[in-house]
Amino acid sequence: MTSATPIPFLDLVRPHLALEEPLVAAFRRALRTAQFVGGPDVEGFEREFATYCEAQGCVGVNSGTDALRFAFIALGVRSGDEVIAPAHTFIATTEAITQAGGTVRFVDIDDRTMTIDPAAVRAAIGPRTVGIVPVHLYGQPADMDPLLELAKEHGLWVVEDAAQAHGGRYKGRRVGAIGRLGCFSFYPGKNLGSLGEGGAVTGAEPALLEAVRRLREHGQSSKYVHDTEGYNGRLHAIQAAFLRIKLAHLDEWNACRQRVAAWYRAALGGIPELVLPEVAPYAEHVYHLYVIRTPARDALREHLQKEGIGSGLHYPVPLHLQQAYAAQGHKKGSLPVTERAAAQCLSLPMFPEMSESQVGRVADAVRSFFRA
Ligand SMILES: *Cc1c(COP(=O)(O)O)cnc(C)c1O
Repeated sequence: MTSATPIPFLDLVRPHLALEEPLVAAFRRALRTAQFVGGPDVEGFEREFATYCEAQGCVGVNSGTDALRFAFIALGVRSGDEVIAPAHTFIATTEAITQAGGTVRFVDIDDRTMTIDPAAVRAAIGPRTVGIVPVHLYGQPADMDPLLELAKEHGLWVVEDAAQAHGGRYKGRRVGAIGRLGCFSFYPGKNLGSLGEGGAVTGAEPALLEAVRRLREHGQSSKYVHDTEGYNGRLHAIQAAFLRIKLAHLDEWNACRQRVAAWYRAALGGIPELVLPEVAPYAEHVYHLYVIRTPARDALREHLQKEGIGSGLHYPVPLHLQQAYAAQGHKKGSLPVTERAAAQCLSLPMFPEMSESQVGRVADAVRSFFRA
């Protein structure tokens, strides 16, 4: 037990208090103009986020899940189509495939980076495969070039799930501007979070972005003209206004996250039972999460909790072994790297405002666990 102030896994209060005045001003503006749906803040944010991602265009939607679902539908996913995705991710990545009418084909991850393994993707491509969905997990871009090559070779599309990696770069290129489409979430805890729900699709092809734009708005191309059915999936104007304010700080926040990660690396080095996150040479990692791995994960987590330190599990049950996918008939051991990651991963506190002394306290607590 400790009398020191607890260290939360995530602090969502401080960054918003620091921006209280502009955020409240944005709310007041919305109140006075009653521009609640669409309008200049949605269009402004779409422009600014496209520029930030170095993408040609951006369409704001209601969530990261909508972003993924609309991307898959816009790309024409139909019943019987197979889409390859990692099993070590949040279920939104793959439920969107199913909801678009396709079938998920789970593959394993690379043991060093924890992102989709291009060799596993190659082995999984079959006559029904239409696309690949790399997830830039924890803030680290997946290895895109081998996937783009496979896609070219087999006539597939690549959609990036960039929900955890706003601002990350792959060989100098911003995520979201590498595949056919990029999908972002603005769930509050993400590197760029709204004050509720939000998401975006980025890309370079006007026709695809236009298809996503129609899908978010009941399939309509102009008022009450519906060439297809769609969804109610718009980005709220008030969230767009909040996001414009927060986007201006994203690079600074990501730099803070990278500094926190460097402190962790220095403070946690040399513990034999512990694997620290590995940054691939092609990646600029933006540390949505700082995930360590150890076979003693559960006991370490309990120890940290006793010391007043928050932590998280991303993700403890791999998707291919979830009840939701039981019909696929996967057995334990079918995706061994994923299953080991699920058993060993532990997300330590990570947020831009974290101080060096807080990182030091987390590291001391980890060290004291392995000494005992
Ligand atoms: C958060 C997240 C999503 C879903 O985003 P929502 O905005 O919550 O719908 C999708 N994929 C990944 C990898 C995520 O982390």
